[in-house]
Amino acid sequence: MSGKLLIVGFGPGNFEHITERAKEALQESDMIIGYKTYVELIQGLLSNQQVISTGMTEEVTRAQEAVKQAEQGKKVAVISSGDAGVYGMAGLVYEVLVEKGWSRKDGVEIEIIPGISAINSCASLLGAPVMHDACTISLSDHLTPWTLIEKRIEAAASADFVIALYNPKSGRRTRQIAEAQRILLQYRSPDTPVGLVKSAYRDRQNIVITNLKEMLEHEIGMLTTVIIGNSSTFLYDDLMITPRGYQRKYTLNETKQPLKPHQRLKKEAEPWALSQEEAAPAVEEKEEEKVKEVEKISSREIAEKALSLVTGKEEQTTFEKVTAKMESIFELAVSPGLVSKKFTPVQLTTIAEIAGEKGSIEYTPDHQIRLEVPTAEPEKVTKRLSEVGLLLAPVGDVLTMKACDFCDGEKKDSIPYAEELQERLGGVNMPKVTKIGFNGCGMACYRAVQDDIGIVYRKGKFDLFLGAKTVGRSAHSGQPVAEGISPEKIVDVVEGIVDEYREKGHPNESFFKFFKRVKEVGGFVYQDVTPKIKIEPTPCGD
Ligand code: SAH
Repeated sequence: MSGKLLIVGFGPGNFEHITERAKEALQESDMIIGYKTYVELIQGLLSNQQVISTGMTEEVTRAQEAVKQAEQGKKVAVISSGDAGVYGMAGLVYEVLVEKGWSRKDGVEIEIIPGISAINSCASLLGAPVMHDACTISLSDHLTPWTLIEKRIEAAASADFVIALYNPKSGRRTRQIAEAQRILLQYRSPDTPVGLVKSAYRDRQNIVITNLKEMLEHEIGMLTTVIIGNSSTFLYDDLMITPRGYQRKYTLNETKQPLKPHQRLKKEAEPWALSQEEAAPAVEEKEEEKVKEVEKISSREIAEKALSLVTGKEEQTTFEKVTAKMESIFELAVSPGLVSKKFTPVQLTTIAEIAGEKGSIEYTPDHQIRLEVPTAEPEKVTKRLSEVGLLLAPVGDVLTMKACDFCDGEKKDSIPYAEELQERLGGVNMPKVTKIGFNGCGMACYRAVQDDIGIVYRKGKFDLFLGAKTVGRSAHSGQPVAEGISPEKIVDVVEGIVDEYREKGHPNESFFKFFKRVKEVGGFVYQDVTPKIKIEPTPCGD
């Protein structure tokens, strides 16, 4: 009779969550080796197997004993809670075998039987906190130097992983969890949701939902797993939920969020994605299309369908209710006004208050402050900002008006035209972000000639520049296309140009590229103004 090692992960601890194979493995073994608390947990699944139970710290002895017994011809089950390959006995048994020069071909047979690890069992009791990229970190510095554990916590915290902390605390090890909290707070908000699950699926199961700041006020022990949410994890009805992705961004001129499944992985919707879905083929291959349609159904749609089957209702699914309450990142641009470049103290304080600790405030090259605020109520944000007299604008592929300060309002004759343009065109959707520069005198010190459409007021009339290219080696100003346009006409002329570009421009095509491609816009003809520069080689020849 040849021996065998069966390394069994028995899951969280109740019989419903242990696999069939694990149960069989226990039954077919002659001998069970494990930590005594674990042996007690699975006692009900044993018949007449010999049991060797040892203390917690005697893992190496257990592994050595198991190998010895198997080599003598016994079928030996070594048990671990959860999964034996996650801070369990599997690696240790292999280490003992390796030390003995074991090989797969000639050595004793070994089978690892997977189990449900604490990260999964505990997550299931908390809601769906894991969902996205996650990691496990054991806070036990018994076999791992604390300096390394610290590094891992920091790396995971900074990369926004959901984190499951195993072995968070024991009678002797109490400082580690406090240190972990301190590091996490450097990267995550104090109100990041945290779940504490003690003895999942065992008699003394206890579940606490708390946050990063307050987590230490609750009981944490040897049998607890601590799950720390990522920056988008939210609480709903005492459940911790981590969304599947980070696409919950919306801006001023969009009313409905989040993205519908068919919009995902389209370049304009998820610009950060590495590979973008190809545009749907025009070819009519019906069967293939059908398969593709099926593949396109997202897990959310499946979940919604399942729910509607259970409730018999098609209207608002729970997911829609959840997402309605869910915080999304609201993006918008604010400025003191079209002409004014001066913020009042109240405006600045309001911006700071709205951004709070979680939002961000960025100063852009377009004389705007770009705000990113996590909120479930964007209307409240816009109301407060408007009340203090700020000019709000959407961000993204929209039209932005950039006027000068008209020498602090002294050269005010052309201001009404700038305001009318802003009124008619500010914030409209464009093929690509488009800037109109509007300057109130021939100095053009706010550099209207460097914008997609440049308008300069001079001697009571307007000069017009089109198609500046501000990036790349062939950067150049806009080409002057007209001088002396009368004030009554300027707004219509510019609107005509914008409309044509909106209508005929390809998605993501800059105004310069569009003008160059179509050769004529608003009746103005494109001329190549690309500078012909000969670039001298550097003296050292490279
Ligand atoms: N092999 C096990 C982990 C062993 S390390 C697994 O895969 O789950 C021991 C740690 O696991 C404990 O400190 C606790 O953090 C976690 N743990 C194991 N079983 C658990 C349970 N039923 N409930 C909560 N946490 C558990």
